[in-house]
Amino acid sequence: MAERTLQGIGVTPRSGVGSVVWYDPEITVSDPDSGADADTERERFSEAVATAREELEAERDVTADRVGEEEAAVFDAHIQFLEDPTVERAVESSIDDGLPAANAVDDAFGGHIEQFEGMDGRMAERADDLRDVRDRLLRILTGGDRVDLSDLPKGSVVFAQRLTPSETAQLDPETVAGFVTATGGRTSHAAIFARSLALPAVVGVGDTLDSVADGAEVVVDGESGEVLVVPDADERAAAEKKEGAAVVHDAVETTDGRHVEVAANVGRPAELQPAADRGADGVGLYRTEFLFLDRESPPSEDEQYEAVTEALDTFPDSRVVVRTLDVGGDKRIPYLDLPEEENPFLGERGIRRSLDPDSDLFATQLRALLRAAADGAGELNVMFPLVATVEELDAAIGAVDDAAAALEDEGIDYERPSLGVMVETPSAVFMAEEFAQRVEFLSIGTNDLTQYVMAADRENERTDDLHDPTHPAVLRAIHRTAEAAHAEDAWVGMCGEMAGNPDLTELLVGLGLDELSMSAVTIPEVKAAVGETDTDSAVELAGRARGAPARADVHDALRD
Ligand code: PEP
Ligand code: MG
Repeated sequence: MAERTLQGIGVTPRSGVGSVVWYDPEITVSDPDSGADADTERERFSEAVATAREELEAERDVTADRVGEEEAAVFDAHIQFLEDPTVERAVESSIDDGLPAANAVDDAFGGHIEQFEGMDGRMAERADDLRDVRDRLLRILTGGDRVDLSDLPKGSVVFAQRLTPSETAQLDPETVAGFVTATGGRTSHAAIFARSLALPAVVGVGDTLDSVADGAEVVVDGESGEVLVVPDADERAAAEKKEGAAVVHDAVETTDGRHVEVAANVGRPAELQPAADRGADGVGLYRTEFLFLDRESPPSEDEQYEAVTEALDTFPDSRVVVRTLDVGGDKRIPYLDLPEEENPFLGERGIRRSLDPDSDLFATQLRALLRAAADGAGELNVMFPLVATVEELDAAIGAVDDAAAALEDEGIDYERPSLGVMVETPSAVFMAEEFAQRVEFLSIGTNDLTQYVMAADRENERTDDLHDPTHPAVLRAIHRTAEAAHAEDAWVGMCGEMAGNPDLTELLVGLGLDELSMSAVTIPEVKAAVGETDTDSAVELAGRARGAPARADVHDALRD
C-alpha cells in the first residue's frame, strides 16, 4: 500500500508515475542588509537582466517549436518589460540610495505593478506580465532554483497550487508524467489543456498537497483522481501498464447502424495532427480564443485564415466546427478591455462581447473564416458561443452576411459556412426550437450549461459535486435541446467535457446526440463505446436516467 493517498478530481483518464517537482513561481525578498556596495549591485543587476534575456529567448524558441509562433510572442513582450528604460532607471536609483539589487528590483517593479493594477482593462492585465518579469529577476538575483516547465527531467510530476493555461502549455508530454494542483475543477482550462496533451492530471486536491515533499515518488491516477504518495511495487506496476482502447480511424456506428460522429476539441494548430492521429473524425470545437491568448495584440485576418485553413486541410472532406471568439469569464485577454465585473461568468462573455464592443474583431474573424471556407479542404462550420437570445443570434448571422457582402464587393474568394449555436445557457435550451430554425446545428457546451443550470461554478472545487452533468436537470436540458434540434431538422452535437467520458457514451446516444466532440485523449475509448451501443437500449437508459429524481439514481441506472 502507498504511504498515503490524496484525493482530488481526475481530469485525464490516464495514469502516470514519477517524481514530484514543486512549481512555485512566488519569490520573497528578505529585508535589505545595510551597506550594499552600489557598483557591485549595479553590476549584479545588469548581469541578471542579461541572464533573464537569455532565458526568455530560449523559452520563446521552445514554445514556438512546441506550441506555435503566436503563443511564443508573450516572451517578446516580457523582454520589452525587462529592458524598459523607466524601470531600469528606477532600479538604479534605488541601488544608488543603498539598496541591494534584489530589493531595488522588488521596489521598482512593485511601484509599476501597483500603477498598472489601478488602471482598467488591458493595462491592468500588464501587471501580470510585470510580476512574471520581476519574479524572474528576483530568482536570478537571490540564487533561487528555477523550475523551467518546458524543460523538466523525464518522469517529472509537476505539483503546484495552480497552473495557468500558458504554464500548462509549456509541459512536454514526452517527458512530464503528469501534474497535480491544489485548486481547479474538471473543466478549468488547465484541465482541458491536460486532456489535449494527453497528460495524466489531478486537480482540486486542496491544502493537503503541500505535505508532499519535492522528489517523492507518486502515482497520478487521472481517472479516479487519486494521488498515491510513495506507491508500492504493485501499485506502480498497475499504473504503468494501464492501456487505452485501440485507435480507430474509420467512422463508427452503433450496433444497429446509427452513425455517431466522434470529433476533437482543439485550441491551437499544434493540437490538430495529434487529434487526427487519435482517430478524430473531424473537429467539433475549435476554441479560437486560444489563438488570441499570450500575445500582445489580436492575430491578423491572415493569421486567422492560415490557422483555420490548416485545420480544414488536416481534416479534408470532414466537418470542422470553429467557434467564434469566446472571451470573458476565466478567459482574460490582456489587450482587450475586459471590464472588472463582480460576476464575470454572468457578464460580458462570448457572443455578447463579439456584438459589442468587439464587433471589429468579430468582423475580422468572420472574414478570415469565410475565406478559409473557400480554400481549405475540409467542410467549415461556424458556431457562436454563449448565445442567450434570438436577437443575439440574428445579429451574429447578420454579421456573417455583412462579411460575405464585403468580400463579394472586394472580389475576394469566400464561401458561406454552415452556422450553428452553442447551447450553454438555460435560455438557449428553452429557445432551442427558434435557434434551430435559423441555423444548421446546435452544439451543447455542458461545461457552461451545467454551471448555469446547477448554479455551480465550473472553476470551484467546492462545488464540483453540483457541477456534474449527470444531474437529472442537466440530462433533461440536453434531451430537450436534442428533441428541439431534430424537430427542426438540425443536427445536435456536444462539445463539453461530458462528451469525452466513455462511461456516458451510451447515455448520450440515447439522449439523441449526433456528434460527440472531446479532447483527443479519449477519442479511441468513445469510438469503442459507440460501437458497443444499441440505440433502443440507449434510448431506454436515457429515459430512465432523465426521469430519475436524483443523481444517485442516474448512476444506478448507468451501473445497471
Ligand atoms: C462548454 O462550455 O461546454 C464549452 C465547450 O466551452 P468552454 O469550455 O470553452 O467554455
Ligand atoms: Mg463554454
